[in-house]
Amino acid sequence: MADSTISFDRPQQVDLDRCVHCGLCLNACPTYRELGVEMDSPRGRIYQMVQVAAGAPIGPSYIEHIELCLACRACESACPSGVQYGRLVEAARAEIETHRQRSFLSRMIRKFVFGHLLQSVGTMTAMGTLVYLYQASGMQRLVRGSGLWKLLGKLGRLEQLAPPAEPPFFFSSIGKTFPAAGERRYRMALMAGCLANVSFARLNEATVRVLQKNGCEVAVPADQGCCGALHVHAGIRSEARMLARRNIDAVLEGGFDAIITNAAGCGSTLKEYGELLEHDAEYAEKARRFSALMRDVTEFLGSIELNRDMGPVPITVTYQDSCHLAHGQKVRIPPRRLLAAVPGLTFREMPLSDLCCGSAGIYNVVENEMAMAVLEAKMQSVNSTGAHVIATANPGCMLQLEAGVRLHGRGQRVSHVVEILDQAYRTAKSSASAQA
Ligand code: SF4
Ligand code: SF4
Repeated sequence: MADSTISFDRPQQVDLDRCVHCGLCLNACPTYRELGVEMDSPRGRIYQMVQVAAGAPIGPSYIEHIELCLACRACESACPSGVQYGRLVEAARAEIETHRQRSFLSRMIRKFVFGHLLQSVGTMTAMGTLVYLYQASGMQRLVRGSGLWKLLGKLGRLEQLAPPAEPPFFFSSIGKTFPAAGERRYRMALMAGCLANVSFARLNEATVRVLQKNGCEVAVPADQGCCGALHVHAGIRSEARMLARRNIDAVLEGGFDAIITNAAGCGSTLKEYGELLEHDAEYAEKARRFSALMRDVTEFLGSIELNRDMGPVPITVTYQDSCHLAHGQKVRIPPRRLLAAVPGLTFREMPLSDLCCGSAGIYNVVENEMAMAVLEAKMQSVNSTGAHVIATANPGCMLQLEAGVRLHGRGQRVSHVVEILDQAYRTAKSSASAQA
């Protein structure tokens, strides 16, 4: 389908004009905190966008500063003038993509990853199986444990971030409906993600169980697919729109009370389908309805009367705000409220919990050096709490934090908030059967 909305894929003057250049966002910005360079601050980047909008060429320096942005949107939270920085940087990246000349290899890799891998169940399954063999054969343990990865340079650093493979993959649950435990209170649709079906299959299963425990019938609608978040972050908005239309067609008319995701990065984009398709005559209204139904799983569970039939989980936990949950969706209290509901759990707030961990979609792969510097600072905050578990609400952050634990941590475990709830419900079940 021809994309008639492509002409809007550049920073809009009305959005740029909101910035009054006050600089109140600077200290919230991880790249500014690392480099102390104005051009790598939100204000500096907006200034460069203004120059481009006024006719300056899109040159290598502009591309570099825009690409070094994590798109974490911490500046949005800090900005008193309501600058929608996420919208600006995504549009700037889309505009860059229409101008820049990429090498043949770069074009092929992007085409494979964004145009094929993230959209193909067969290819994700095949790659997941290869990764599983690498893990199960002991090769991964050898590479990580022996320090061999340090000799492999950038490849070795990237290996630290490689997502796991968790067979059986969650693809087999797509198209199924899971009944509520007890009386049905809600009908939910679960967005299962793309790579999450391979790498976070157990998290998806835990999400279904926790929702069931809370009176939800959970459907995993057939024909759903990748949400397009990584495409949006990479400036490939036409492809993201195509994926959005597919998901809307797959889910919207199912009569669901809410559409749920356990991935904050995906949730942010799914909640912004209305914006992504705002100029699409056929889908604009449907996209707005879809986005209005979207809920992060912690946001949903934090808004209902929670099933408190939980057993004790005696762990000390700190919580890392996922940028796209805290800054993108303004969801901060519900995950903490859920953790507080778990009996036996001790919570320790970390300093600067809403400062990015450096994951940022595929940022930690393409801007590995900055991502690792940001991660190191994050791990200092984590270590200062003495917590044994780092809870978060986004699979991408989980991978990054796991690498952080291996490189700079103290053996902490990384868990999604929902996995801790699942553990509490399972403990209740096992203590009840032990008493019977
Ligand atoms: S983005 Fe907001 S906080 Fe930052 S300089 Fe502009 S107006 Fe000030
Ligand atoms: S999105 Fe994050 S990295 Fe980018 S300018 Fe804003 S605070 Fe800085």
